Amino acid sequence: CGIVGYVGRTMDDTALNVVMEGLARLEYRGYDSAGVALVTEDGVATEKRAGKLENLRSALEAHPLAPSRTGIGHTRWATHGGPTDGNAHPHRGGDGNRLALIHNGIIENFHGLKKQLLAEGVEFSSETDTEVAAKLVGREYDRLGDLTEAMRAVVSRLEGAFTLLAVHADSPGVVVGARRNSPLVVGLGEDANFLGSDVAAFIGYTRHALELGQDQIVTITPDGYEVIGFDGTPADGKAYEVTWDAAA
Ligand code: GLU
Repeated sequence: CGIVGYVGRTMDDTALNVVMEGLARLEYRGYDSAGVALVTEDGVATEKRAGKLENLRSALEAHPLAPSRTGIGHTRWATHGGPTDGNAHPHRGGDGNRLALIHNGIIENFHGLKKQLLAEGVEFSSETDTEVAAKLVGREYDRLGDLTEAMRAVVSRLEGAFTLLAVHADSPGVVVGARRNSPLVVGLGEDANFLGSDVAAFIGYTRHALELGQDQIVTITPDGYEVIGFDGTPADGKAYEVTWDAAA
């Protein structure tokens, strides 16, 4: 299972290429499904498939996604819900499903949260624990209009282990990540920034990395990044240089 995020400046195929390359570099971790989401001129576009990355690649060739400068990618190791196209990430939430979210880990208390959402009339399209987070962050975005704040409003309610990344159609050029008991690393590039479940995700592009602490949220844009704790206080990541030879 692995996670990749990217923001750059130009609307082209770079976001998709970076995300797909990152997923390929994370293949060694094992997975049963893969998916991507891009913020395009026409909203968030996603493609996801059970099976190997090759299945996702063929689907993307058959139905190319529009140019983008903001992308997230996921390889899944199913814990809740079988390895199907529908259970593959990203999952969608919010008004018009304008938010896309990916997750590595397990949200232990998803059952109670899902029951509550179902009682409120929210419809689900998967059996995953993840979709609960997508619905909650999507709803908070509609209320707050800010992706970082929407993430923050939800993460302290989630128990277990999670790395989450989210993008929203109304926030092009922004990827927000959060981590609790699960890894998330920031890659600092020139005119582009990256997120990964490990540095392998972006090692082809930059060796400047930033390690996040426990219970932190990071927001990346092409110009920089911002880290806060789940309680909203500003935080610093720990900067370091990746020195090992990633080509190995
Ligand atoms: N628990 C989530 C699922 O089953 C994420 C699994 C993962 O870490 O890939 O969909």
